[in-house]
Amino acid sequence: RKLGYAIVGLGSYATKQIMPQFAQCASSRLVALVSGTPEKLERYGAEYGIPQTHRYSYADYDRIRDNPDIDIVYVILPNSMHAEYTIRAAKAGKHVMCEKPMAVSSAECEAMIAACRAANRLLMIGYRSRFEPYNRLCIKLAKDRLVGPTRIITAEHGFNAQPNQWRLDKPMSGGGSLMDIGIYSLNATRYLTGEEPILVSAVESTDRSDPRFRTVEDRIDWMFRFPSGIVANCVSSYTSPHNRYRIVGDQGWIDMEPATAYQGQTMRINRNNHTEAGPTPPPANQFVGQLDHLSECILTGRQPIVPGEEGLRDLRLIEAIYRSAREGRAISLG
Ligand code: NAD
Repeated sequence: RKLGYAIVGLGSYATKQIMPQFAQCASSRLVALVSGTPEKLERYGAEYGIPQTHRYSYADYDRIRDNPDIDIVYVILPNSMHAEYTIRAAKAGKHVMCEKPMAVSSAECEAMIAACRAANRLLMIGYRSRFEPYNRLCIKLAKDRLVGPTRIITAEHGFNAQPNQWRLDKPMSGGGSLMDIGIYSLNATRYLTGEEPILVSAVESTDRSDPRFRTVEDRIDWMFRFPSGIVANCVSSYTSPHNRYRIVGDQGWIDMEPATAYQGQTMRINRNNHTEAGPTPPPANQFVGQLDHLSECILTGRQPIVPGEEGLRDLRLIEAIYRSAREGRAISLG
């Protein structure tokens, strides 16, 4: 059986990356659309064969409760709207997939988890890299100590942000590059180590005369120390392109660049002073894997590998990174 998804927010990521993937899904189908723009409902409704009865405005949103074809609501709105639309979906009896960052504060994440728990519905965060085959392989190679026990991780994520968008408006985004793209560096250090950081030290560098950065940060770089002694050095930027990470062990390194892009992941491995291409994992589509994972968890009564608690952990760490940068000191965690 294929479970039915309603997509909430017909912006760039929803329409260009997510909606075209349902055609390849084994356990998921697109059954409904929610948008504030009637022209988008008309255009994408026609393109994906979604009948008028399954097209909703934001004012109509709570009526999804009465539509048994909708099993899952996928929230792909600006960050500040994730909590409200997740909680309303849970109250309407629907399971929820919510985009990263889960919300704009850890308090909102806690409310989202509580609402889904109270409604007995599953909540998963759109951490697609966990379904991307090179990232999965990298996690395994690190665990198997291919280059020895991990000592250091470097992770860099960034792009040159276009002006005049909600990402640069703190009330909508919750923060700058860290909320949007640095979160990939942060999340990778956790899945590559399988550990939770115990210390964070961060430095922010933002040119406040740049009109893009009136309310949000550009660069924020931080260091995490993990319980085993692993140290991660991370970059997050809105003014320079980065998409890579490197795991360094005592016998070499594993490098991924791009690491978390939509496609084109490339792995290189250095061992005993010799560098070569990494192994090629069996092909898999990360978007399809993510969408079908939640459907299969619902159908089989399992918890997703990236539940709301995973988004909450990242938001707590984001808050600690901001606090460390603001206070100019290292912060002990947990
Ligand atoms: P976008 O600006 O292209 O789309 C946002 C949508 O929300 C638009 O359709 C817009 O009309 C709608 N919207 C509703 N109310 C709005 C309001 N008050 N202000 C602004 N827009 C409003 O953004 P996007 O790039 O699609 O990002 C949406 C979410 O998806 C974000 O949380 C983002 O972090 C996430 N995202 C995830 C990935 C990923 O790879 N997992 C990639 C891109 C974006």
